[in-house]
Amino acid sequence: MKKEKVILTGDRPTGRLHIGHYVGSLKRRVELQNSGQYDKIFIFIADAQALTDNIENPEKVRQNVIEVALDYLSCGLDPTKSTIFIQSQIPELCELSFYYMDLVSVSRLQRNPTVKTEIQMRNFESSIPVGFFTYPISQAADITAFKATTVPAGEDQEPMLEQAREIVRRFNYIYGETLVEPEILLPTNQVCLRLPGTDGKAKMSKSLGNCIYLSDSADEVEKRVKSMFTDPTHLRVQDPGKLEGNTVFTYLDAFSKPEHFGLYLPEYNNLQELKEHYQRGGLGDMKVKKFLNSVLQEELEPIRNRRKEFEKDIPAVYDMLKTGCEKARETASATLDEVRRAMKINYFDDMDLIAEQAKRFNQ
Ligand code: ATP
Ligand code: MG
Repeated sequence: MKKEKVILTGDRPTGRLHIGHYVGSLKRRVELQNSGQYDKIFIFIADAQALTDNIENPEKVRQNVIEVALDYLSCGLDPTKSTIFIQSQIPELCELSFYYMDLVSVSRLQRNPTVKTEIQMRNFESSIPVGFFTYPISQAADITAFKATTVPAGEDQEPMLEQAREIVRRFNYIYGETLVEPEILLPTNQVCLRLPGTDGKAKMSKSLGNCIYLSDSADEVEKRVKSMFTDPTHLRVQDPGKLEGNTVFTYLDAFSKPEHFGLYLPEYNNLQELKEHYQRGGLGDMKVKKFLNSVLQEELEPIRNRRKEFEKDIPAVYDMLKTGCEKARETASATLDEVRRAMKINYFDDMDLIAEQAKRFNQ
Protein backbone atom coordinates (compact mmCIF):
# COMPACT_ATOMS: atom_id res chain seq x y z
CA MET A 1 0.00 0.00 0.00
CA LYS A 2 1.28 3.47 -0.86
CA LYS A 3 2.20 5.44 2.25
CA GLU A 4 -0.29 8.23 2.89
CA LYS A 5 1.02 11.81 2.94
CA VAL A 6 -0.39 13.52 6.01
CA ILE A 7 0.18 17.06 7.30
CA LEU A 8 -0.30 17.99 10.92
CA THR A 9 0.54 21.30 12.51
CA GLY A 10 -0.95 23.83 14.89
CA ASP A 11 -0.67 26.91 17.05
CA ARG A 12 -1.12 27.76 20.69
CA PRO A 13 -4.14 29.99 21.40
CA THR A 14 -2.11 32.42 23.50
CA GLY A 15 -2.82 35.37 21.22
CA ARG A 16 -3.84 36.31 17.71
CA LEU A 17 -1.50 35.03 15.00
CA HIS A 18 1.27 37.28 13.72
CA ILE A 19 3.37 37.63 10.58
CA GLY A 20 6.02 35.30 12.12
CA HIS A 21 3.46 32.50 12.16
CA TYR A 22 2.44 33.46 8.66
CA VAL A 23 5.89 33.17 7.05
CA GLY A 24 7.05 30.39 9.41
CA SER A 25 4.18 28.01 8.80
CA LEU A 26 0.72 29.33 7.97
CA LYS A 27 1.33 30.53 4.41
CA ARG A 28 3.02 27.25 3.51
CA ARG A 29 0.12 25.24 4.95
CA VAL A 30 -2.32 27.01 2.69
CA GLU A 31 -0.09 26.39 -0.34
CA LEU A 32 0.27 22.70 0.56
CA GLN A 33 -3.46 22.43 1.19
CA ASN A 34 -4.19 23.82 -2.27
CA SER A 35 -1.47 21.75 -3.98
CA GLY A 36 -3.61 18.63 -3.71
CA GLN A 37 -0.47 16.60 -2.97
CA TYR A 38 -1.50 15.51 0.52
CA ASP A 39 -3.99 12.80 1.40
CA LYS A 40 -5.00 14.39 4.71
CA ILE A 41 -4.38 17.69 6.46
CA PHE A 42 -4.94 18.27 10.17
CA ILE A 43 -4.55 21.72 11.70
CA PHE A 44 -5.14 22.14 15.41
CA ILE A 45 -5.47 24.80 18.05
CA ALA A 46 -3.26 23.64 20.92
CA ASP A 47 -5.36 24.86 23.87
CA ALA A 48 -4.25 22.06 26.22
CA GLN A 49 -0.64 22.94 25.50
CA ALA A 50 -1.35 26.65 26.01
CA LEU A 51 -2.75 25.80 29.45
CA THR A 52 0.57 24.23 30.50
CA ASP A 53 1.98 27.73 31.03
CA ASN A 54 -1.33 29.59 31.46
CA ILE A 55 -3.10 27.41 33.98
CA GLU A 56 -4.25 30.40 36.03
CA ASN A 57 -5.51 32.19 32.96
CA PRO A 58 -8.01 29.89 31.24
CA GLU A 59 -10.01 32.85 29.96
CA LYS A 60 -7.05 34.01 27.86
CA VAL A 61 -6.82 30.61 26.20
CA ARG A 62 -10.58 30.39 25.67
CA GLN A 63 -10.76 33.84 24.06
CA ASN A 64 -7.88 33.09 21.72
CA VAL A 65 -9.26 29.81 20.36
CA ILE A 66 -11.73 31.72 18.19
CA GLU A 67 -9.09 34.35 17.29
CA VAL A 68 -6.77 31.64 15.95
CA ALA A 69 -9.65 29.95 14.12
CA LEU A 70 -10.49 33.28 12.44
CA ASP A 71 -6.84 33.81 11.54
CA TYR A 72 -6.77 30.36 9.92
CA LEU A 73 -9.86 30.96 7.83
CA SER A 74 -8.78 34.43 6.79
CA CYS A 75 -5.41 33.11 5.58
CA GLY A 76 -7.16 30.58 3.36
CA LEU A 77 -7.26 27.36 5.38
CA ASP A 78 -10.35 25.69 4.04
CA PRO A 79 -12.33 23.32 6.27
CA THR A 80 -13.46 21.34 3.23
CA LYS A 81 -9.83 20.47 2.54
CA SER A 82 -8.21 20.63 6.01
CA THR A 83 -9.57 19.25 9.28
CA ILE A 84 -9.33 22.08 11.81
CA PHE A 85 -9.78 20.99 15.44
CA ILE A 86 -9.18 21.87 19.10
CA GLN A 87 -6.63 19.75 20.95
CA SER A 88 -8.48 19.39 24.28
CA GLN A 89 -11.49 17.86 22.55
CA ILE A 90 -9.49 14.77 21.55
CA PRO A 91 -9.02 12.80 24.80
CA GLU A 92 -7.17 10.06 22.89
CA LEU A 93 -4.18 12.44 22.81
CA CYS A 94 -3.91 12.33 26.63
CA GLU A 95 -3.90 8.57 26.66
CA LEU A 96 -1.17 8.40 24.03
CA SER A 97 0.95 10.93 25.98
CA PHE A 98 0.53 8.81 29.10
CA TYR A 99 2.06 5.77 27.39
CA TYR A 100 4.77 7.78 25.62
CA MET A 101 5.95 9.16 28.98
CA ASP A 102 7.40 5.72 29.69
CA LEU A 103 9.56 5.95 26.57
CA VAL A 104 11.35 9.22 27.47
CA SER A 105 13.77 9.97 30.31
CA VAL A 106 13.76 13.13 32.45
CA SER A 107 17.32 13.93 31.35
CA ARG A 108 16.29 13.68 27.69
CA LEU A 109 13.56 16.25 28.28
CA GLN A 110 15.98 18.51 30.16
CA ARG A 111 18.24 18.59 27.11
CA ASN A 112 15.56 20.08 24.81
CA PRO A 113 16.99 23.51 23.82
CA THR A 114 13.61 25.08 22.95
CA VAL A 115 12.08 24.05 26.27
CA LYS A 116 15.19 25.37 28.06
CA THR A 117 14.80 28.81 26.42
CA GLU A 118 11.08 28.87 27.05
CA ILE A 119 11.55 28.02 30.74
CA GLN A 120 13.97 30.96 31.05
CA MET A 121 11.59 33.27 29.18
CA ARG A 122 8.77 32.41 31.58
CA ASN A 123 10.90 32.70 34.75
CA PHE A 124 9.76 29.27 35.92
CA GLU A 125 13.15 28.47 37.49
CA SER A 126 12.54 25.55 39.85
CA SER A 127 8.75 25.66 39.77
CA ILE A 128 8.27 24.36 36.22
CA PRO A 129 4.82 22.82 35.81
CA VAL A 130 5.23 19.12 34.98
CA GLY A 131 2.81 19.56 32.07
CA PHE A 132 4.98 22.30 30.57
CA PHE A 133 8.16 20.30 31.05
CA THR A 134 6.63 17.30 29.29
CA TYR A 135 4.92 19.17 26.45
CA PRO A 136 7.30 17.74 23.82
CA ILE A 137 5.83 14.32 24.70
CA SER A 138 2.30 15.59 24.33
CA GLN A 139 3.31 17.12 21.02
CA ALA A 140 4.61 13.71 19.90
CA ALA A 141 1.15 12.35 20.72
CA ASP A 142 -0.50 15.08 18.62
CA ILE A 143 1.69 14.28 15.64
CA THR A 144 1.61 10.50 15.80
CA ALA A 145 -2.11 10.20 16.56
CA PHE A 146 -2.72 11.39 13.01
CA LYS A 147 0.20 9.43 11.52
CA ALA A 148 1.56 12.73 10.25
CA THR A 149 4.41 12.50 7.76
CA THR A 150 4.94 16.25 7.38
CA VAL A 151 4.89 19.06 9.97
CA PRO A 152 5.25 22.56 8.48
CA ALA A 153 6.72 24.67 11.30
CA GLY A 154 9.34 27.23 12.29
CA GLU A 155 12.85 26.30 13.34
CA ASP A 156 12.00 26.37 17.08
CA GLN A 157 10.00 23.18 16.49
CA GLU A 158 12.97 21.10 15.32
CA PRO A 159 13.78 19.67 18.79
CA MET A 160 10.10 18.68 19.18
CA LEU A 161 10.16 16.75 15.93
CA GLU A 162 13.40 15.02 16.93
CA GLN A 163 11.75 14.00 20.20
CA ALA A 164 8.70 12.70 18.35
CA ARG A 165 10.86 10.65 15.99
CA GLU A 166 12.73 9.10 18.93
CA ILE A 167 9.44 8.10 20.55
CA VAL A 168 8.22 6.57 17.29
CA ARG A 169 11.44 4.58 16.82
CA ARG A 170 11.45 3.33 20.41
CA PHE A 171 7.75 2.43 20.30
CA ASN A 172 8.07 0.58 17.00
CA TYR A 173 11.22 -1.23 18.20
CA ILE A 174 9.50 -2.52 21.34
CA TYR A 175 5.97 -3.12 20.07
CA GLY A 176 6.37 -3.61 16.33
CA GLU A 177 5.82 -1.24 13.39
CA THR A 178 2.83 0.90 14.44
CA LEU A 179 3.68 4.62 14.42
CA VAL A 180 4.91 6.85 11.58
CA GLU A 181 8.06 9.00 11.76
CA PRO A 182 7.30 12.66 10.97
CA GLU A 183 9.50 15.14 9.09
CA ILE A 184 9.59 18.87 9.78
CA LEU A 185 9.01 21.12 6.76
CA LEU A 186 10.93 24.33 7.38
CA PRO A 187 10.43 27.58 5.46
CA THR A 188 12.72 27.73 2.42
CA ASN A 189 13.49 31.42 3.00
CA GLN A 190 16.23 31.61 5.70
CA VAL A 191 14.83 34.70 7.45
CA CYS A 192 11.45 33.00 7.87
CA LEU A 193 12.87 30.19 9.99
CA ARG A 194 12.62 32.48 13.00
CA LEU A 195 11.30 35.92 12.13
CA PRO A 196 12.54 38.48 14.71
CA GLY A 197 10.17 40.76 16.59
CA THR A 198 9.69 44.45 15.75
CA ASP A 199 12.10 45.18 18.64
CA GLY A 200 14.82 43.32 16.72
CA LYS A 201 15.66 41.23 19.78
CA ALA A 202 14.13 37.80 20.09
CA LYS A 203 11.85 35.93 17.70
CA MET A 204 8.49 37.49 17.11
CA SER A 205 6.33 35.85 19.76
CA LYS A 206 2.86 36.39 21.17
CA SER A 207 4.32 36.16 24.65
CA LEU A 208 6.82 38.99 24.03
CA GLY A 209 4.52 41.69 22.61
CA ASN A 210 6.84 42.42 19.66
CA CYS A 211 4.41 41.41 16.94
CA ILE A 212 2.63 42.61 13.85
CA TYR A 213 -0.64 40.71 13.97
CA LEU A 214 -2.44 39.45 10.89
CA SER A 215 -5.58 41.13 12.21
CA ASP A 216 -3.98 44.51 12.96
CA SER A 217 -5.69 47.42 11.21
CA ALA A 218 -3.84 49.25 8.41
CA ASP A 219 -3.08 52.08 10.88
CA GLU A 220 -1.72 49.70 13.51
CA VAL A 221 0.56 48.02 10.97
CA GLU A 222 1.87 51.40 9.84
CA LYS A 223 2.49 52.50 13.44
CA ARG A 224 4.36 49.29 14.25
CA VAL A 225 6.48 49.57 11.10
CA LYS A 226 7.37 53.21 11.83
CA SER A 227 8.61 52.37 15.33
CA MET A 228 10.61 49.33 14.19
CA PHE A 229 14.20 48.68 15.16
CA THR A 230 16.76 49.44 12.41
CA ASP A 231 20.46 50.27 12.74
CA PRO A 232 21.02 52.39 15.87
CA THR A 233 24.23 53.88 14.39
CA HIS A 234 22.42 55.12 11.28
CA LEU A 235 21.59 58.57 12.63
CA ARG A 236 21.66 60.89 9.60
CA VAL A 237 20.43 60.06 6.10
CA GLN A 238 23.94 60.44 4.66
CA ASP A 239 25.46 57.93 7.14
CA PRO A 240 26.22 54.42 5.89
CA GLY A 241 23.73 51.90 7.33
CA LYS A 242 24.11 48.28 8.41
CA LEU A 243 21.89 45.42 7.27
CA GLU A 244 22.86 42.86 9.91
CA GLY A 245 20.25 42.81 12.66
CA ASN A 246 18.30 45.51 10.82
CA THR A 247 14.76 44.23 11.23
CA VAL A 248 13.27 46.37 8.46
CA PHE A 249 15.54 44.69 5.93
CA THR A 250 14.89 41.27 7.46
CA TYR A 251 11.17 41.81 6.90
CA LEU A 252 11.84 42.96 3.34
CA ASP A 253 13.81 39.73 2.81
CA ALA A 254 10.75 37.85 4.06
CA PHE A 255 8.00 39.74 2.23
CA SER A 256 9.17 41.82 -0.71
CA LYS A 257 8.93 40.61 -4.29
CA PRO A 258 10.61 42.15 -7.36
CA GLU A 259 7.27 43.52 -8.62
CA HIS A 260 6.85 45.61 -5.44
CA PHE A 261 9.63 47.93 -6.62
CA GLY A 262 7.83 48.94 -9.81
CA LEU A 263 4.68 49.56 -7.77
CA TYR A 264 5.97 51.35 -4.69
CA LEU A 265 9.62 52.34 -5.16
CA PRO A 266 10.42 52.66 -8.86
CA GLU A 267 13.82 54.34 -8.27
CA TYR A 268 15.17 50.88 -7.46
CA ASN A 269 15.00 47.72 -9.55
CA ASN A 270 15.30 45.27 -6.73
CA LEU A 271 16.07 44.69 -3.06
CA GLN A 272 19.78 44.33 -3.74
CA GLU A 273 19.98 47.89 -5.11
CA LEU A 274 18.07 49.24 -2.13
CA LYS A 275 20.39 47.43 0.26
CA GLU A 276 23.50 48.71 -1.51
CA HIS A 277 22.26 52.30 -1.33
CA TYR A 278 21.49 51.92 2.38
CA GLN A 279 24.98 50.55 3.04
CA ARG A 280 26.63 53.37 1.03
CA GLY A 281 24.69 56.04 2.86
CA GLY A 282 22.18 58.56 1.57
CA LEU A 283 19.04 56.49 2.17
CA GLY A 284 16.90 57.30 5.21
CA ASP A 285 15.11 54.74 7.41
CA MET A 286 11.74 56.40 6.85
CA LYS A 287 11.83 55.79 3.11
CA VAL A 288 12.62 52.10 3.63
CA LYS A 289 9.93 51.81 6.29
CA LYS A 290 7.36 53.39 4.00
CA PHE A 291 8.20 50.82 1.35
CA LEU A 292 7.97 47.98 3.87
CA ASN A 293 4.60 49.30 5.00
CA SER A 294 3.27 49.18 1.41
CA VAL A 295 4.59 45.64 0.96
CA LEU A 296 3.02 44.43 4.20
CA GLN A 297 -0.30 46.16 3.57
CA GLU A 298 -0.55 44.45 0.18
CA GLU A 299 -0.12 41.03 1.80
CA LEU A 300 -2.28 41.71 4.86
CA GLU A 301 -5.22 43.57 3.36
CA PRO A 302 -6.94 40.56 1.75
CA ILE A 303 -6.43 38.58 4.98
CA ARG A 304 -7.96 41.41 7.03
CA ASN A 305 -10.92 41.67 4.65
CA ARG A 306 -11.64 37.94 4.69
CA ARG A 307 -11.48 37.97 8.50
CA LYS A 308 -14.19 40.66 8.62
CA GLU A 309 -16.46 38.37 6.59
CA PHE A 310 -15.90 35.35 8.87
CA GLU A 311 -16.40 37.53 11.98
CA LYS A 312 -19.99 38.14 10.85
CA ASP A 313 -20.95 34.52 11.60
CA ILE A 314 -19.09 33.37 14.71
CA PRO A 315 -21.50 30.48 15.50
CA ALA A 316 -20.63 29.04 12.06
CA VAL A 317 -16.94 29.12 12.99
CA TYR A 318 -17.64 27.15 16.19
CA ASP A 319 -19.70 24.68 14.14
CA MET A 320 -16.81 24.23 11.74
CA LEU A 321 -14.49 23.53 14.70
CA LYS A 322 -16.94 21.05 16.20
CA THR A 323 -17.16 19.09 12.95
CA GLY A 324 -13.36 19.19 12.72
CA CYS A 325 -13.04 17.79 16.26
CA GLU A 326 -15.40 14.92 15.44
CA LYS A 327 -13.44 14.03 12.31
CA ALA A 328 -10.08 14.31 14.05
CA ARG A 329 -11.30 12.09 16.87
CA GLU A 330 -12.11 9.27 14.47
CA THR A 331 -8.53 9.18 13.22
CA ALA A 332 -6.94 9.56 16.67
CA SER A 333 -9.14 6.82 18.05
CA ALA A 334 -8.22 4.40 15.24
CA THR A 335 -4.52 5.01 15.96
CA LEU A 336 -5.10 4.51 19.68
CA ASP A 337 -6.74 1.13 18.97
CA GLU A 338 -3.59 0.08 17.10
CA VAL A 339 -1.39 1.35 19.93
CA ARG A 340 -3.39 -0.55 22.54
CA ARG A 341 -3.22 -3.71 20.44
CA ALA A 342 0.55 -3.33 19.97
CA MET A 343 1.02 -2.71 23.72
CA LYS A 344 -1.12 -5.73 24.56
CA ILE A 345 -3.64 -3.76 26.60
CA ASN A 346 -6.63 -4.59 24.40
CA TYR A 347 -7.85 -7.37 26.73
CA PHE A 348 -11.47 -7.54 25.68
CA ASP A 349 -10.91 -7.50 21.90
CA ASP A 350 -8.41 -10.31 22.07
CA MET A 351 -10.44 -13.54 21.87
CA ASP A 352 -7.26 -15.63 21.55
CA LEU A 353 -6.02 -14.24 24.87
CA ILE A 354 -9.25 -15.12 26.65
CA ALA A 355 -9.29 -18.62 25.16
CA GLU A 356 -5.62 -19.15 25.99
CA GLN A 357 -6.09 -18.09 29.61
CA ALA A 358 -9.19 -20.24 29.98
CA LYS A 359 -7.17 -23.23 28.77
CA ARG A 360 -4.24 -22.43 31.07
CA PHE A 361 -6.40 -22.40 34.19
CA ASN A 362 -8.51 -25.43 33.28
CA GLN A 363 -6.07 -27.99 32.01
P1 ATP B 1 3.98 31.42 22.36
O1 ATP B 1 4.79 32.61 22.73
O2 ATP B 1 2.70 31.28 23.09
O3 ATP B 1 4.81 30.14 22.33
P2 ATP B 1 4.42 31.73 19.55
O4 ATP B 1 4.29 33.09 18.97
O5 ATP B 1 5.80 31.15 19.76
O6 ATP B 1 3.56 31.69 20.87
P3 ATP B 1 3.40 29.18 18.69
O7 ATP B 1 1.92 28.93 18.74
O8 ATP B 1 4.26 28.59 19.75
O9 ATP B 1 3.61 30.76 18.61
O10 ATP B 1 3.98 28.70 17.27
C1 ATP B 1 3.14 28.24 16.20
C2 ATP B 1 3.94 28.00 14.94
O11 ATP B 1 4.46 29.21 14.41
C3 ATP B 1 5.15 27.07 15.10
O12 ATP B 1 5.27 26.31 13.94
C4 ATP B 1 6.30 28.02 15.21
O13 ATP B 1 7.52 27.42 14.78
C5 ATP B 1 5.89 29.13 14.26
N1 ATP B 1 6.44 30.42 14.68
C6 ATP B 1 6.15 31.10 15.81
N2 ATP B 1 6.84 32.24 15.86
C7 ATP B 1 7.60 32.29 14.73
C8 ATP B 1 8.54 33.23 14.19
N3 ATP B 1 8.82 34.36 14.82
N4 ATP B 1 9.12 32.95 12.99
C9 ATP B 1 8.85 31.80 12.33
N5 ATP B 1 7.97 30.88 12.77
C10 ATP B 1 7.35 31.11 13.97
MG1 MG C 1 5.99 29.13 20.81
